[in-house]
Amino acid sequence: MRRKIIAGNWKMNGTVGETEALIKQLLTATTGSGHAETVVCPPFTSLMIAAKLLKGSHIGLGAQDMSQHAKGAFTGEISAELLLTLGVRFVILGHSERRQYHFETDGLVNLKTRAALAAGLTPIVCVGETLEQRENGHTESVIREQIQGTMSGFGADELRRIVIAYEPVWAIGTGRTATPDQAQEVHRSIRQLLARIDDAASRELPILYGGSVKADNARGLLSQPDIDGALVGGASLKADEFVQIINAA
Ligand code: PEP
Repeated sequence: MRRKIIAGNWKMNGTVGETEALIKQLLTATTGSGHAETVVCPPFTSLMIAAKLLKGSHIGLGAQDMSQHAKGAFTGEISAELLLTLGVRFVILGHSERRQYHFETDGLVNLKTRAALAAGLTPIVCVGETLEQRENGHTESVIREQIQGTMSGFGADELRRIVIAYEPVWAIGTGRTATPDQAQEVHRSIRQLLARIDDAASRELPILYGGSVKADNARGLLSQPDIDGALVGGASLKADEFVQIINAA
């Protein structure tokens, strides 16, 4: 059976005080005894307080990005090692907002993924098509290119330590969710692409869905055979709603 993961991407939200309050609420409302692994990804400035509160708990900690470089003169950047020493275990890479606003390419995401793996972090690598690409019938080719580019040079060993998130850009923060069937179709095709690298590893690798996941649509999405969890943005900032999504998994 594949790991199930529900990860919250808090984006650029939450002061240290707000992070503390939200994490305390999540720790009280969840037991960790379900089947899904829970991960929260606060902004860099809140990682330290989050790490302190989550230490030894059933909730894992993730960052929202990292540098492809190990150390040195890279002003404003954060390396895998800096994250790891804080207690971070996961890192979101290639989120569509990084691709859109910071011009990140599949090649760069590949380098970041290599750096994360080398340090022992679990990368959550995001792929997804825009509305225009979907409406022009290019979803399959866009996803193929993104998977081939971000996974370039990887074998079974790497795939066993990676999580993929399929996040259609048109569904992120829009309230418009892919239907379970639409999402399942893309998840299945991602798994088939990964099977070309290594069939066994492709069957073990969790593929999360992201894009306006809410308490009321989570169950339908998560019941699909190739949807192994969710990357949740807006709804992960509300403890009640995020807990309902965790429970749905
Ligand atoms: C995200 O940004 O990863 C995301 C899925 O956001 P939302 O759930 O708000 O659409």
